[in-house]
Amino acid sequence: MTTSDEMMAVSESLIWQATFDAITDMISIQDRQFNLVKVNKAFERFTGLKIEELIGRKCYEVIHGSNCPIADCPYGQMMVNGNRCVSEYYEPRLGIYLEIATSPVVGSDGQVIGSVHVARDVTERKKAEQIKDEFIGLISHELKTPLTVILGSILTSLGKGITRRQARHLLSDAAASAESLSRMIDNLLELSRAQADHLEMRKEMVDVGQLLRSVVSRYQDRSKNHRLVTKIPKGLPPVKADRVRLELVLNNLIDNALKYSPGGGDVVVSIQDQGKYLLFSVKDRGIGIPDEEKDRLFQPFARLSNTAGIDGVGLGLNVCQHLVKAHGGRIWVESEHGQGSTFFFTLPLGGTKEASS
Ligand code: ADP
Repeated sequence: MTTSDEMMAVSESLIWQATFDAITDMISIQDRQFNLVKVNKAFERFTGLKIEELIGRKCYEVIHGSNCPIADCPYGQMMVNGNRCVSEYYEPRLGIYLEIATSPVVGSDGQVIGSVHVARDVTERKKAEQIKDEFIGLISHELKTPLTVILGSILTSLGKGITRRQARHLLSDAAASAESLSRMIDNLLELSRAQADHLEMRKEMVDVGQLLRSVVSRYQDRSKNHRLVTKIPKGLPPVKADRVRLELVLNNLIDNALKYSPGGGDVVVSIQDQGKYLLFSVKDRGIGIPDEEKDRLFQPFARLSNTAGIDGVGLGLNVCQHLVKAHGGRIWVESEHGQGSTFFFTLPLGGTKEASS
């Protein structure tokens, strides 16, 4: 071998080492007895052990803390069929989900002399899958509940011996449930549009006082133990907004104010002209929001510890945030646990963007 061949060989092995170390997946080369022959930096990081503490030790000992290979070890399967094997499982010792791909290392005589393991931390993907699965279960339940009321009320109202008054009552229950169903679907559609960056606003000049009055009037008879109060000053300037979206924001906030104040009381909905923007607020005297959970409030599918016995899917506030932001405004909450909450949002006047501080 010439000096330059040697140089090349040295630099090539350094390049390989640097390449493996740059990869964030755990890579190891093992012999047929599961002994670690080579590992990269990610392997050291995940296991918390130094390279000199790892080389020569059994992989299953280091990763699983066991004294023999685990039942569904992909290496074992690979030894049997000689092909690359991939498996996925939860490793409680490391607290992560791993996807492990095992590929054979073949000697000059064609025999498998070891394997290359590439283990990837797939915990985030697994969590997302779990959230999706839970979400499908939750949403199916939440869609079914108002549908059951709608169907039940309509069928009962058609039954024999039902008076006109009773039928009217049943049908208004059905209408309220249909509205809540429709809002849930609207929220789902808005969320999927926002996630796909397709939230196109259809803005027009809106008389927000009139819009708020009409939204509130639909809630007036919804609850016997709440009183809905509006505070709308005269002479409010019209605002350029997407009427349907603004209505959805108000519906979501008023709906929550009623839902999360099961003991009843006043729900005060107001608008104030702040010069550069309009300030909307929805105030309830309900269960309030624990301080330590306020950060999660506007996240998708956030349901806080205060929701026991109260239905919901955790979409409304996230959608409100997307829609208010799309108007150049901002949304926030002031709340004291056990005392009630006030949700605020702004809409800039004259198309100017309010500072989002
Ligand atoms: P949902 O009501 O369907 O659960 P939202 O996105 O509207 O979803 O609200 C998210 C969470 O924020 C709720 O689950 C609840 O924990 C909390 N929350 C929302 N509005 C209020 C309110 N007015 N008072 C107390 N908690 C609230």
